[in-house]
Amino acid sequence: MPAEPADETAGTSPAAVGAAQVRALAAAAGSLPALNAAVSVCRACPRLVAWRERVARERRAAYAEQTYWGRPIPGWGPADAAVAVVGLAPAAHGGNRTGRIFTGDRSGDWLFAALHRAGLARLPTSEAADDGQQLLDTRLLAAVRCAPPANKPTTTERDTCRPWLVGELALLRPTLRVVLALGGFAWTALWPALGAAGFAVPRRRSAFGHRVEVPLDNGVRMLGCYHPSQQNTFTGRVTAGMLDDVFGRAAALAASHRGTRGASVSSLP
Ligand code: SF4
Repeated sequence: MPAEPADETAGTSPAAVGAAQVRALAAAAGSLPALNAAVSVCRACPRLVAWRERVARERRAAYAEQTYWGRPIPGWGPADAAVAVVGLAPAAHGGNRTGRIFTGDRSGDWLFAALHRAGLARLPTSEAADDGQQLLDTRLLAAVRCAPPANKPTTTERDTCRPWLVGELALLRPTLRVVLALGGFAWTALWPALGAAGFAVPRRRSAFGHRVEVPLDNGVRMLGCYHPSQQNTFTGRVTAGMLDDVFGRAAALAASHRGTRGASVSSLP
């Protein structure tokens, strides 16, 4: 039986119940642990709160003996990461079950295998919060922190959740060198978020595409990567080689930066 994910809230974080509170709490979080704590109790999107909790109650038969997390999923990885990988949202029976982003679902299988091959994760798999996995100089986060029905958040939900993304990017900004968008949804969500987090983004948005690369300020680069969703991997739209191409590029950019400060490791959310 996998361990339940660590809870950083310790019952001290107020729960946001609307967009204004998300903005206020995200702006007030002065550290990634504080941001994680505030994110993980958020209840600002009624539809997503109802869905994540319903899935956690009903559970999939294969996981009937497990306790689902059933809450928003904070970012995971070192606080001084050079690479941020941004996905769409947690999977209902993946992150929403394990409490760790991209952990316990098929997309995560592809993602962690690619991260491992690129030297950005210690293990090629990510099964549960206590599996010993460590991210190397890399932080994983989602544009929307709660599992949405059919993996489709509304634009209102995306925008309500944006301050958490902005706050996390702003806290990572001193060391961040690569922002890798997994899929068009994350790409679209990132442009305004990066600007609000203090990055100089080009006035004209580039269209999303696989291996699209956009220079931001101070040598930071934004990379596009097709999402390793089941549909994309089943149909061959995304292959391991394609992921290696983008994650290898991200690792090379991180390595050129790491030469001056050493790698950063984390197994904690
Ligand atoms: S999606 Fe984001 S803003 Fe909405 S309830 Fe979840 S954490 Fe809060």
